[in-house]
Amino acid sequence: MTDRDALFKRKVCYFAQTFFIKDNRAELLLCAHKYDFDIEFFDQMADFVIAVGQAEPDDLFVVDLDVLYNMQHDQNRTMFLGDLLKRLPDARRYVYLQTERQSGRFLLQKMLVDHNCLAYAEKPIANDILVDKLFNLFAANKRDEASRVIYLGDYTRFDAARLADRRVELVRHEDAQTLHLLVRQLRPDVVVIEDSHYQRTEVVARVLKKNIEADPSLEIVLLQGKPDSSLARRAIDSGFDEILLLQEADVLTRQLLNRIDKIRVNKRLISRDRATGLLNKIGFQTRAQEAIRRAEKDGLPLSLAIIDIDKFKTINDTWGHYFGDIVIKRLSLLLQAHVDADDLLSRFGGEEFVMLLWNCPPAAAMERLERMRQAFGELVFEVEPGDERHFSFSGGLASFPPHRTENELFLRADAQLYVAKQSGRNRIAGL
Ligand code: GH3
Ligand code: MG
Ligand code: MG
Repeated sequence: MTDRDALFKRKVCYFAQTFFIKDNRAELLLCAHKYDFDIEFFDQMADFVIAVGQAEPDDLFVVDLDVLYNMQHDQNRTMFLGDLLKRLPDARRYVYLQTERQSGRFLLQKMLVDHNCLAYAEKPIANDILVDKLFNLFAANKRDEASRVIYLGDYTRFDAARLADRRVELVRHEDAQTLHLLVRQLRPDVVVIEDSHYQRTEVVARVLKKNIEADPSLEIVLLQGKPDSSLARRAIDSGFDEILLLQEADVLTRQLLNRIDKIRVNKRLISRDRATGLLNKIGFQTRAQEAIRRAEKDGLPLSLAIIDIDKFKTINDTWGHYFGDIVIKRLSLLLQAHVDADDLLSRFGGEEFVMLLWNCPPAAAMERLERMRQAFGELVFEVEPGDERHFSFSGGLASFPPHRTENELFLRADAQLYVAKQSGRNRIAGL
């Protein structure tokens, strides 16, 4: 499968002074190979620039700014940062390494940021940490999570197309007295209320917030036609989180998107696993319950799978916990490449993953899980130079129907996982 190749077989071009990195090279490469990406080292500007020019769009370029101090430019002049940046092709992804002294100079940071700087790091930085950060940059999930805004007002003041572009759905509503029902049904991230509607129904925010099941992170925003501090004061006292002043749709939309970005960051922290970016247990459970409700309503089948890496304790004990973490990360990337936008994928803890496959009856789920199992078995892990290993996982499956709740599905799949482990591992049980 080509998307999987693209996930792992990536390249970093690393530009630094030879004598500084010589001893590091072997260790850096070893770290990178565990993640299955390659590093090519450069010590000549001209060679590096050629490599940048020929690279794939996803490749990363690390520039150690020690080259500035030691490389001779024209006429024995030390190279300045501006000269260096000018020679680096645009529209590439650069990571700059700098000394503590360099990172203290704001002007230098400004130049980097102005020049396609994807990230910068301060030295000294341990090889394993640098490689892990680079891997995260490769693996960064660029897709925004879907968000929803309910707008109580007479006509839309936002640029709906621009919002849709960033995966924000805008739902307009005109009746303050049924707003709480819509909020309960659609579970929006933000509710924007026009001041005229607020004035007619001042209790509106309190009604939303007093619901014992209300989402505590829901943001309620008042949109004011013109500044009115007494109205604003009352609104804030009655539960509004923010006041926006009416502006051009273009500006208002940017303001709203900024808020949604912050909400997304917070939601990620709460519902996602830091190491892999997958849903955590809490994030999975809330979404799974919602998905089951939807499937029930639409009459669609679902399958829940639990997978668990085989003999993971031995992997840890033999090659260390750090290597065990790499196995977890690479499996999580592989699984991501095998699930669709409507599926849920979570790291439940340790080396255990749970997924909910949308609109997927048992036989199809079994087929998909089998493909994942085989693909994982094919991944190569270079544990020592020249020593390549393969690992496996076992899985248990349960389907809706007949199992009707998230809990029931989970218990059944877990029991099936136990069966798979008992009957020899590296297999899926559940049909
Ligand atoms: P089995 O085939 O029966 O699943 O054997 P196993 O060794 O994988 O089973 P077990 O569940 O006993 O071992 C899981 C180990 O995973 C135990 C724990 O030390 C380790 N572990 C849990 N979380 C992490 C983690 O985040 N990183 C690493 N490296 N190890 C972890
Ligand atoms: Mg386990
Ligand atoms: Mg295990």
